[in-house]
This record gives sequence, C-alpha cells and structure tokens, in this order.
Amino acid sequence: MSVRVRFAPSPTGFLHIGGARTALFNWLYAKSQGGKFLLRIEDTDRERSEDRYVADIMESLKWLGLDWDEEPVYQHDRFARYQAVAEDLVDKGQAYRCDCTPDALNAIRAQCEKDKKPFRYPGTCREKKLPKGGGVTRVRVLQDGETSFKDLIRGEITFQNKDMDDWVVLRSDNSPTYNFCVVIDDADQKMTHILRGDDHINNTPKQIQLYKMLGLTVPHFAHLPMILGADKTKLSKRHGAASTLEYRTQGYLPEALINFLVRLGWSYGDEEIISIETLKKVFSLEKIGKANAIFNPEKLNWVSGHYFKDTPAKDLVAYLKKYFAEGIAFASKVEPERFEHGVRIVQGKVKTIPEMLDQLDCLFGADPDFKNLPATPEEKKAMADAITLVKPLIVEGEFKAAEMEHRVKDLATTRGEKLAIYAKALRYAVTGGRHSPALFDMLEVQGKPTVIRRVERVLNLLGA
Ligand code: GLU
Repeated sequence: MSVRVRFAPSPTGFLHIGGARTALFNWLYAKSQGGKFLLRIEDTDRERSEDRYVADIMESLKWLGLDWDEEPVYQHDRFARYQAVAEDLVDKGQAYRCDCTPDALNAIRAQCEKDKKPFRYPGTCREKKLPKGGGVTRVRVLQDGETSFKDLIRGEITFQNKDMDDWVVLRSDNSPTYNFCVVIDDADQKMTHILRGDDHINNTPKQIQLYKMLGLTVPHFAHLPMILGADKTKLSKRHGAASTLEYRTQGYLPEALINFLVRLGWSYGDEEIISIETLKKVFSLEKIGKANAIFNPEKLNWVSGHYFKDTPAKDLVAYLKKYFAEGIAFASKVEPERFEHGVRIVQGKVKTIPEMLDQLDCLFGADPDFKNLPATPEEKKAMADAITLVKPLIVEGEFKAAEMEHRVKDLATTRGEKLAIYAKALRYAVTGGRHSPALFDMLEVQGKPTVIRRVERVLNLLGA
C-alpha cells in the first residue's frame, strides 16, 4: 500500500519550529516513498482556533516548499461525522453517556491528588445506561491486559490498560475531542504512518484501542524526539522557538532552514549539508535518533552561510525581490545585470539577508556621509596622499577588478609599501569606512562614475 502521511496542526498559534520539523519529516517521508503528504487542520477547539493561524501555517509550509497533496481537511467541517461515529458506539454499547457534574469530578480529582494518584474517571456512569441527550459521551475502554505498539523510532512501547480510564469522546455540547477525531480522520484519510511529536506518545494507546473497537487498521506510529534549547530545557523564545516565518524575516533561506531542521533528529552519515533533492531520495525513518535534538543557533548560521554561497545569484535576486522588495528599494534603478553581479560578490560572505542588504548598500546605496574623517592633520594628509596616488590607476585603464588590483599592487611594490595602505584609503573613499565587500570587486560593481565622484569628494573633504 502506498504511503500516506499527514501534518495535523492545531491552529491555536503560529507554526513554531518544532511543528515545521514534524511537517518536514512527514513531507520527506512521503517523497522518499513516492507517497502522499496531506494537511489537516485540527480546529475542533473553536475558541482557540483562529483563521490567522491557519493562514500562518499554510504560508510557512509554502515558504519552506512543503507542498501538500489533496485539499486540506478541516476538522470543524466534519463534526457530523464524528457525532455519527459516537452515536454508533453508544448504540453498540462501546460508549455511554455520563452525567457526572463538574463538581462531582472535581471532588474525585481532589481525592486523587490527596492520594498522590493520577486522576482516573472511576466509571460511575458505565452501567447506568443513561439516555441520549445531556452529559458527555465516554468510550468504554478495555481495563484488562495491555496495549502495545511498535514505534518505528523507539521500538516496542507497552501501556497497562488499567491505567486508562473511560475518556470523553463528545463533550456535553456534543463537540468531539482530539483523540476521537484524530482516529476517525486518520482512518478515513487512509493514513499509513503517523509521524508526530513525542508529546503524543501517551495518546497513542487510547487511539489504538479506538481503532480496534471500530474495526479499523492501526497505522504505524513514529514519535519524533523533542527539540530542546541550547540549555537543554524546553525550546524557549530566546533559544529558537520563534515562529517559522520569523526565520524568513530574520533573513534565512528556506532551503537552509530545511537543512538545519532535518538534522534535528535525523542524520546521514557525517554529512551536514544535504540538498532537498538528495533528502527526498535518502530520507528514512531508521535514521531518526531517539535522543532529543538540541537547537543550536550558531549551527543555523553556519548552514545558512553555505546556502548563501551555493545558491545561484539569480535565484537570490529573485528571492530578494519576492520577500525583501522594500529592503532593496535603494537599488531600484540599478541595471539587473549589475545588481546580480553585486549579489555574486557578496553572497559568499553573508549568513542572513540583512547582512546581504548591508553589503549591497555599500555597492548601490547613497554616497557615504564621511562623518568619521581621520582625526589629525597628519592622518588626513597620509590618506589624501594615498588616494591621490591611486586615483589615476583606478580611473584610467580598464575598470575591471583584477586589472585595478594589479595596478594598485604594482604601485605599492614599486614604492616599497604595503598594499593595505592604499586599499584602506580607497575603501574609505568609496564606503566612508564601512565593513565592505572585497575592495576591487566592489569598485567594479559600483562603476566608474560613482567611484570617481566619491574619490573626488573625499579628497575635497581631506583638503587635498
Ligand atoms: N493536532 C495535534 C497537534 O497539533 C497533532 C496531532 C497528531 O499529529 O496526531 O499537536
């Protein structure tokens, strides 16, 4: 049977990075098996679910390139289906109405707390045969024996049925609960594998019992290890728990984030940089580790640098136009080829888009303000002398990086001086002293008129 997996987020918040990794692992598993990846919006909690979160989840998946097959399923469209299944269970005696009041349940809860035992519904209404209407609906669980399953990551996991209680499938307003909907949906959608966070392990025996009760095939389960912050505690805002789209705003490329995320729990020998095309072929559940993964922001920057270096400049230009149009407004009049050339000379050095924009601003932005001219007359004169000597070598002859570099190097050698003296003065003249792209490449991209204008202006300010 061909593989069908799903990502089933609850739209009660922005898609965080852990959710994005769950989606990615499902997507990659589908791709590696020639299967289907589906999206299901688990919005049974009508109070907490919001359209803006659904939009955020979809936008995040699209940005990452995790395209889903088939139309997304919304649980709130399927209430009638869940209610019908619940009624059927009641008719068959596998579920029953319970009219225990919240007060009565709270009293049991308090007693359990006192006895230092976990709360278990004691089955007060199990044999009462209460009529339909009013109260909650509970499923009659097996109380003897055990429920076990072979987790594809963790191996055999066994739960004692006596630890399970008759859980609620429909609340008193007839709305269905998560564990109930998820089984009906996964069965109706013919899911073969359930890959999800390990915070769901305790739900799995409940779900398995329900599959069996309903006579359905139990899918395979794989519970993914947690992602922890650098301090080995729960991922916090400070340690990477930002929403997925915040990484876009921070200027990471989606391919870099994917490469970073896939290594949070999955490995491929010692390889760290693995393209999406390769991942789609080689991803496997066997290589998902059991140990929790640690989110290391420095590693993200390292991976990110690789992707900036290796992505074709024209793709980076298209990406900037799509997502950072405002950020590159300063270069709106630059000819496309020159802009791409600029991107090419800076891409190898940056880790994020803001860093790239800063470098591009050196190339295509406004003239520097030269606010921080050298302080002393001696320093001013030394700089002016260096620029004066170098100016003709820059403005005469071919305006190409390699040639200009060659001529300036010759000058330094002839005068028995270091190239750095001239390079520093020249860099100051064209950037006002900023941290800049490689000098001669920068000159070539800035173009002769800009370079001459800036050089003359700084000579003027230096009183030369
Ligand atoms: N809606 C659940 C969540 O967001 C996922 C349930 C599942 O994957 O089974 O945690």
